[in-house]
Amino acid sequence: MSIQRTFSIIKPDATRRNITGAINAKIEASGLRIVAQKRILMSEKQAKDFYAIHAERPFYSDLVSFMTSGPVIVQVLEGENAVLLYREIMGATNPSEAAEGTIRKEYAESIEANSVHGSDSYENAVAEIAHFFIDSEIVS
Ligand code: ATP
Ligand code: MG
Repeated sequence: MSIQRTFSIIKPDATRRNITGAINAKIEASGLRIVAQKRILMSEKQAKDFYAIHAERPFYSDLVSFMTSGPVIVQVLEGENAVLLYREIMGATNPSEAAEGTIRKEYAESIEANSVHGSDSYENAVAEIAHFFIDSEIVS
């Protein structure tokens, strides 16, 4: 597996608690490099589009409200097998099911307010990165 990039969001529950640095420390400890990041307030449209795959799920409107409830940090992470590696260190969606040592086990508040997003495939990573960053903002 060669060097790969994935897309990450540090969610509003984490910016609110001022723990973005602690999460970045766990990202860097895994070997991943933060090659782009910025703090933004997602618009309702951005959040709806980003989670459009979940539009029919009962939690969709709550999820959109949550993701627009405060600032988020959008990031590009780079490293060996980055997509899978980041999913591993994030832990399960529901923090009560997340493995010991994972970001969500340590920091997530609930299944919704679960501190981080990570792309679930290489193809989605490419699309999500392109949605939030232009090439010149990503520096390896
Ligand atoms: P993400 O896409 O944010 O990386 P994920 O891939 O682990 O998370 P998904 O199934 O894609 O999980 O769900 C997207 C997000 O929707 C979750 O991270 C969480 O914030 C929220 N969510 C998922 N399931 C539920 C649920 N049952 N109740 C409330 N919110 C949920
Ligand atoms: Mg997902």
